[in-house]
Formats: sequence, structure tokens, C-alpha cells
Amino acid sequence: MLIVSEETCRQVMTRPAAFDAVEAVFGAMARGDAWNFPVVREAIGHADALYGFKSGFDKAGLVLGVKAGGYWPHNMARGLTNHQSTVFLFDPDTGMLSALVGGNYLTALRTAASSAISINRLARRDARVLGMVGAGHQSQFQLRAAVEQRDFERVVAWNFHPEMLPRLGAVAEELGLPFEAVEREELGAQADVIITITSAHEALLMKDWIKPGTHIACMGTDTKGKQEVDPQLVAAATLFTDEVAQSVSIGETQHAIAAGLISQADITPIGAVINGDHPGRTSDSEITLFDGTGVGLQDLAVASAAAQIAQDKGLAQEVAL
Ligand code: NAD
Repeated sequence: MLIVSEETCRQVMTRPAAFDAVEAVFGAMARGDAWNFPVVREAIGHADALYGFKSGFDKAGLVLGVKAGGYWPHNMARGLTNHQSTVFLFDPDTGMLSALVGGNYLTALRTAASSAISINRLARRDARVLGMVGAGHQSQFQLRAAVEQRDFERVVAWNFHPEMLPRLGAVAEELGLPFEAVEREELGAQADVIITITSAHEALLMKDWIKPGTHIACMGTDTKGKQEVDPQLVAAATLFTDEVAQSVSIGETQHAIAAGLISQADITPIGAVINGDHPGRTSDSEITLFDGTGVGLQDLAVASAAAQIAQDKGLAQEVAL
């Protein structure tokens, strides 16, 4: 059995390796070769914590496991990350525990890989302006992965808490991209690709603000009641997601579904585009929207890749069971 610490994950796991692992499992999901199991998420009545499990099985990649963890809101005051998780991987032939992998850094990498895959597959080739809505913990991971997908020339950004924007601006600067804080309407008018990564519970971007041809990756909405964009914008866009069942229940399309503006049949798993079964974007004027809800198989895919790389480099701790 391998133990791969948070520190080792940071050392060995790369954005390209996360991109490849997540893309492969999205493809397997769309082919019916990989399944996510029902998510458990409970308030434990202690430390105001939310604790749960995301699990699944990738029969194509032979990855079986569970991510356990959740949200401990008072951790920050202790100098710890509020989101805490660990991935347990099992041998699918025997059920024996094969690896324990730190899940905190990998969660950010797999979430950024998801939106990056959508940009890679769906954004216009000539996209030059990246719009960022959100400036929290995930945003810099999102920015770093996004800029590897197109020849972006500058970044425009908006955040509910404007004081958080300079930190994201510093990352853009490090990447050699001019960064400008703008109002939301202006962001829509300028951006060719937009990533939303907030904990908002109301629409932040309205349909009429978005240019034809824009690609939007909605990454923040992962719970019932959360929302980042106008349901009319969702209805006007060609819709893609990681998993349709999650998109309509806890993802960004939940509101357009509830309002009767779209149906489940209007949403395509991005794995179908990856597998060549759906053309993806079909015109330069189409608005494409990817609803990245975050599935357990993403976590297992990157954890499995990290464990393999760590083992190959001699950096995984081997323990007898
Ligand atoms: P964070 O707490 O570090 O940042 C929160 C962000 O939301 C900040 O930009 C903050 O200014 C903004 N925000 C807070 N309240 C707001 C409001 N009322 N209106 C608009 N914006 C508001 O969180 P994070 O770790 O960066 O995560 C951001 C979001 O992404 C969270 O909602 C989280 O649950 C979600 N998330 C999704 C996935 C996925 O796979 N889809 C994975 C990880 C996190």
C-alpha cells in the first residue's frame, strides 16, 4: 500500500498529467465505462463541519476508490485549509487498499483541469481575452490551466470582494498577461472565454452581456441553490457538462431546468466531444457553456496518476497492510 502525502502530490503532480487523467475519465464516463456513485454529504454537528464521500469506478482505467473529506470552516484560524480531503484507492481485483493520497492540492488541480478541457475542446481558436469571475482559492489554479489552452493576450476580472483581486492579478502578471479589474458587464463585452469560480447564490452574468462566440466554464456551482449565471444565458447556450445527472441537480443548469427553459436532453457530456461522438462547437457565433460540477471520478483519476508518478520517482511511502 502506498502513502502519497500532500507535499508529495505538490511535488510530483503536474497540470498536463491532471488534464490527461481527467480527460480520459470524462471519455470513459461518456462511453459508459466509468461510473460515479451517489455522493454522501452530511453536517456532523461538530466544528460546523460538512463531511462526505465521493466515489466511483473507472472500469477502463481500473481505478476504484473514494474521496473522503469536506469543509471545516474554522480551520483557517488554525492555519489550515478549510477544505480537507484524502483519496483512498483500492485494487479493483481484490478490494485491498492500494493507496492513500492527499486530496487537497489534487482537488484544485482536477477542478482546473476540468475547465481547461472545456476550453481546449469548445473555445474559439482565436480566443484572446480571458475573463475571470471569482478570486478565491481555486481561481489561480483555474487561471494557470486556462492560459495553457489558447493564446490569451490579457485577463479581465471581477470579484464580489474586490480586495481579493490583486492576488489573482499577481498570478496573471507572473504568467506575463496584463490584468484589469472591470465591472461584470464590461467583462462580458470583452472576454472570449469566461470562467466563473465563486460561491454565489445568484446570477452574476446576464445573457445580454455575453458576446456571440464566447465560451463560459461555470465551475463554482456544485450544490443545490448555488448559481453563477442567468438561466436565460444557460438556455441560449450549447450546453456541456461533466455529468448530466449532477448538472441538473446541483450544477449550474439546475435553475434553467427548474424554470422549464431547458431539458436534460439539451446537455451533452463533454466526454462525448472527447470521444468524437459530438462535434462540440459548430459555429464561431455559438455560445458554449460548460457546467463543471466536480465528480468523484476526477478525484480518483488524478489521485491514481499522482500515486503512479510518486511510485515511479521513489517518492511514495510503501507500507505493508
Ligand atoms: P473561496 O472561499 O476561496 O472563494 C470564494 C469566491 O466566491 C471568492 O471569489 C468570493 O469573493 C466569492 N464569493 C463569495 N460570496 C459571494 C457572493 N455572495 N457572490 C459572488 N461571489 C461570492 O472558494 P474556492 O475554493 O475558490 O471555491 C470557489 C467555488 O468553487 C466554491 O463555491 C466551491 O464550492 C466551488 N468548487 C467547485 C468545484 C467543482 O469541481 N466544480 C471544485 C472545488 C470548488
